[in-house]
Amino acid sequence: MLIDEMTMIEFEEGLKQTQTVLIPFGSVEEHGPHLPLSTDTIQAIEVGKKTAARVPLFVAPSINYGNCRSSKTHPGTISISTETLKAIMTDLVSSFRSQGLRNFIILSGHAGGAHCMALQDAGEALIDRYDDIKIAIVSEYHLASSEGVYLIETIGDSHAGEIETSRIMHTHPQLVKGSSQKEFPSFPASGILVRNKRKYWQNGVWGDPTKATPEKGKALEERVVCKLVELVHEIGVFKE
Ligand SMILES: [Zn+2]
Repeated sequence: MLIDEMTMIEFEEGLKQTQTVLIPFGSVEEHGPHLPLSTDTIQAIEVGKKTAARVPLFVAPSINYGNCRSSKTHPGTISISTETLKAIMTDLVSSFRSQGLRNFIILSGHAGGAHCMALQDAGEALIDRYDDIKIAIVSEYHLASSEGVYLIETIGDSHAGEIETSRIMHTHPQLVKGSSQKEFPSFPASGILVRNKRKYWQNGVWGDPTKATPEKGKALEERVVCKLVELVHEIGVFKE
């Protein structure tokens, strides 16, 4: 049940089937020379829709901005603060709760550390505030990389690499443009922060997109959807 497309009456009827909603969180972030800035959002929406085709589930309109750090000086990355991100999630969960939803799957297509931690922080505060809700915070990328470990050839593949390129080749081939090369960033091992991130990470790729295929993208997506279907069942019956 895609909330974007539902009427008031359909929403009300939907609540008789489920109290679970998946909220896709994405980002506007460079994904190398070859993938769209909305790569993370696209992936989260796609698996959300495909999960909802298999089990009763509301899918919320996506939040298309996230917190990006290591790519923030690359062209096209538009980042929001972790405070804003936490506030958005808090407001959305509170409003969905007032509409009768009780189980929340926060599915992040963006896997940045600070971004995911902010969602986790907001979730912890929300379960303290409301004792009648359940929240799962899930990184879409981590699901794909852990479930697809035997499908992927590149060791340490991450941002805009084999996994993400395969995924977009599968669902949105028209948005994969030009070619890209294998790259791994070389930020100072000392931990010293740098202002000019691009100097240390020229093309914004972390992994090997040349190993990507649409077939791998399809297989990875299927595994992610299967895990999400399991999670929808689990959160519905979960008791502490
Ligand atoms: Zn990404």
